[in-house]
Amino acid sequence: MRTSQQLRNEMVKRQIENRGVRDGRVLQTFRNMPRDEFVPEDAKAWAYDDCPIPIGYNQTISQPYIVAFMAEALELSSDERILEIGTGSGYNAAVLSKLCREVYTIEIIPELAKRAEEAIEKQDIKNAFVRQGDGSLGWPEEAPFDAIILTAAPPKEIPIPLVIQLKQGGRLIAPVGEETQELALYIKQGISLVPYHLMPVRFVPMIGKIAKQATL
Ligand code: SAM
Repeated sequence: MRTSQQLRNEMVKRQIENRGVRDGRVLQTFRNMPRDEFVPEDAKAWAYDDCPIPIGYNQTISQPYIVAFMAEALELSSDERILEIGTGSGYNAAVLSKLCREVYTIEIIPELAKRAEEAIEKQDIKNAFVRQGDGSLGWPEEAPFDAIILTAAPPKEIPIPLVIQLKQGGRLIAPVGEETQELALYIKQGISLVPYHLMPVRFVPMIGKIAKQATL
């Protein structure tokens, strides 16, 4: 039987590197971070498969390639403070914690927020902070952020509080749309976000009070 380390090495080679992710720090982080520690007990056998995996409450941990692609697109230099919307399993936050200074991550489903916090603690990660709440409001007490990542899709546009909480020149990456979604990288210039379209994707929808209202 292959060890967890062997499975991670194969995942990086076949699913991530072969599809074009080149950032050495991102690749090494994926080799080191045990994805199996972030999925439910009955899904551990599939932890390194090339797909999203259900984590309960109708939510998923994203496909490894997409997590790596988004991390690379943020071009992190290890000094950033990042906001993530949609903690889910906590895996993405754990990965980002190795690539930046601090990660603030918000999860709307209380049970998932608690479980993710425990999984992150178990990895002895001290620079990722989990909050339960509606991420479309952002985390104003900790703003401004150098980068923001959304792993749940707002239906039309980026919620205004997130635009406000991003630094000038900061990067925000998000899937946007309902039936079909477009993953885009946005750079903040003045009060606007300049979008760069990356690829079509399928994420779970953003839920919460203002996801459908607060648009720019
Ligand atoms: N990043 C996650 C991981 O590493 O496992 C995967 C996230 S999953 C695709 C999307 C998550 O966003 C779900 O856990 C969902 O409950 C959460 N979510 C949806 N709307 C939200 C909101 N308004 N605020 C915070 N979290 C939200």
